[in-house]
Amino acid sequence: MVAGATLASAACVSEPPDVGRLARVHVPPAEIVRIYSLNSGQTFGGLLNGVISANEQASLLMAFREHASPRRMRQGTEISLRFFPRDEDLRGVDIALTPDETVRLSREPLGWRSEMIQTPIFVDTLYASGEIETVLWNAVVRNPVLSELTFEDRNGLIDHLDQVFQWQVDFSRQIRVGDTYRFVFEREARPDGSMRAGKLLAAELVNSGTAYHAIYFDPNGDGRGSYFDLEGESVRRAFLLKPLAYRRISSRFTNSRFHPILQTWRSHRGIDYAADAGTDIMATSDGVVIHRGFDSSYGNSIQIRHPNGFVTRYAHMRAFRNGIVVGSRVKQSDVIGYVGSTGLATGPHLHYEMLRGGRHIDPLSVDLPAGDPVPSEDRLRWGNELSVRVALLETIPGAGPVRDFVAQARSESPTDAEQAATPTGGLQ
Ligand SMILES: [Zn+2]
Repeated sequence: MVAGATLASAACVSEPPDVGRLARVHVPPAEIVRIYSLNSGQTFGGLLNGVISANEQASLLMAFREHASPRRMRQGTEISLRFFPRDEDLRGVDIALTPDETVRLSREPLGWRSEMIQTPIFVDTLYASGEIETVLWNAVVRNPVLSELTFEDRNGLIDHLDQVFQWQVDFSRQIRVGDTYRFVFEREARPDGSMRAGKLLAAELVNSGTAYHAIYFDPNGDGRGSYFDLEGESVRRAFLLKPLAYRRISSRFTNSRFHPILQTWRSHRGIDYAADAGTDIMATSDGVVIHRGFDSSYGNSIQIRHPNGFVTRYAHMRAFRNGIVVGSRVKQSDVIGYVGSTGLATGPHLHYEMLRGGRHIDPLSVDLPAGDPVPSEDRLRWGNELSVRVALLETIPGAGPVRDFVAQARSESPTDAEQAATPTGGLQ
């Protein structure tokens, strides 16, 4: 029997251990956690009543006050009470002040101790590309690659794209079916997948056959970089193409057959943007307010005079922004008022006009550079970062080389495809 037993154990050793045969072990939880969400009228102290003594409450609240005021806790604040499993004595409390900050209170032999815990974040990179079938908003929000992002975060991405391309392409008027986009986006995400912050590293938009690029560059490394094209020229221009954020313009839920712009500038010398009443209206360029008041047809309207003889007009506003008066100096993107339907307007929309030397012009025809190019002393670093970011764009599945680079390569040596396309047949 002894020999048999030895044999059996020797056989066991020669086989990999089978974990599945181990008896289940019951491990009691290290603590019991009860999670509460503060209702209106409920206080932190009220939540602790009956859980700990009044003396302990005072000690706990004192420790909490080192980081935040118990009287200023928002409705919906999540509070986790952590108990010892054996006697259900309170051992700790976590208060999630914001999605990024939690105050952790721990019971110590001599009272309560508090510490601030930052929610851990991870940084990853998103790559997305697509072709526009209806409108840009649909193309980005419904991109399956981005489906793991929350709806809000996908909308945030569109805002980022709009901010980067707002001087080059008016997403509400100029996007065409067949246009393509691709971008590389760096995000900071929390363990629950929500996005804390993000920034576009590189983006390409091919609009009606023209490729626009925006490459992020931060020469000082202070997080306040900006965007440049492939030649190192700033993407900034003297005028925003539109006075509203793209996402606020009422076109995105509809297909391309319904055009968001009620009339073209040619027919009534202005552009109408349909948007919800109350939507922010931005000054499209730096300037001085020369008119602010009510006209019978324009309703509440503002005119701004800009350098080089330009004037812009914003009409049918519901209200002016506080502090905006005749003589106010405004900067590009400053909010000057809010969309409404005052004057001759059938519904809430912004009527926007641009004049030069007293004559109406199409805002899309103005292309004045404004931002500085990459400084000469930063050119070397720019060159290195540019090639890294362009390489990132080119890794996106389904996309080819960045177009301008192709053109450059072609001028040096014709590709096979080009040679094959030489119209020898046509000459015969
Ligand atoms: Zn109009």
